[in-house]
Amino acid sequence: MVKAEGVHKSFGAAHILKGIDLEVAPREVFCLIGPSGSGKSTFLRCINHLEKINAGRLSVDGELVGYRQKGDKLYELKDSEVALQRRDIGMVFQRFNLFPHMTAIENVMEAPVQVKGESKAVARARAEKLLDRVGLSDKAGNYPTQLSGGQQQRVAIARALAMEPKLMLFDEPTSALDPELVGDVLDVMRGLAEDGMTMIVVTHEMGFAREVGDALVFMDDGVVVESGHPRDVLTNPQHDRTKSFLSKVL
Ligand code: ATP
Ligand code: MG
Repeated sequence: MVKAEGVHKSFGAAHILKGIDLEVAPREVFCLIGPSGSGKSTFLRCINHLEKINAGRLSVDGELVGYRQKGDKLYELKDSEVALQRRDIGMVFQRFNLFPHMTAIENVMEAPVQVKGESKAVARARAEKLLDRVGLSDKAGNYPTQLSGGQQQRVAIARALAMEPKLMLFDEPTSALDPELVGDVLDVMRGLAEDGMTMIVVTHEMGFAREVGDALVFMDDGVVVESGHPRDVLTNPQHDRTKSFLSKVL
């Protein structure tokens, strides 16, 4: 579903991603861990072309992200074509950034109506189902300020799902939450995994990675240091850098 080959990204003189190679299979829950500043968020942002890579190849579902290849040459996609690619990729951030002036259900309906031109009735019916799925049927009419952080994050997940993405990217979706609210969000993500959604999850929740993850990558300083099945990497890390990181977070 996602394939990265020798992906490099710099911001000015700062070389952040230094040749990332990885592959995410369809229906896989792919966890990404690593110290602050190692490039995890940057890599996620490259996947939906919020950042342009400087070298290497990155594809989602067999399509190059942001480019079209003709012969040996790469041509940049137009903004409208990039937007089409992004429609298929849901993203959930640490901060839920819901639209503050819209209710929960309006937040979930917004993109299908505005971006896909769906009728409000169809969008509303789907939004009701999605709010039910994240356990918030009774909060459909609440504004974001009338929801807890965990509830807002579940609305954000429902909002991303409303576009029926083939891939979901999660960037530390629980790290801004009070501890007692984390479980409900992880439960929603676990349900998504059971339904076969392909997910890349940047997380510090090692329990989630171990129980739900199919693959785990430890990234440090812009490179993949170690990867494997979460159980293996977490219980039997091979590299000193992985051991040192895990000793601090486990
Ligand atoms: P954290 O765990 O703290 O979220 P991270 O692994 O997600 O860290 P990134 O946010 O990808 O790390 O940042 C990696 C490096 O890239 C950092 O040194 C950061 O300052 C730098 N960086 C990220 N975005 C930009 C930008 N737009 N311009 C310049 N530097 C940037
Ligand atoms: Mg980050």
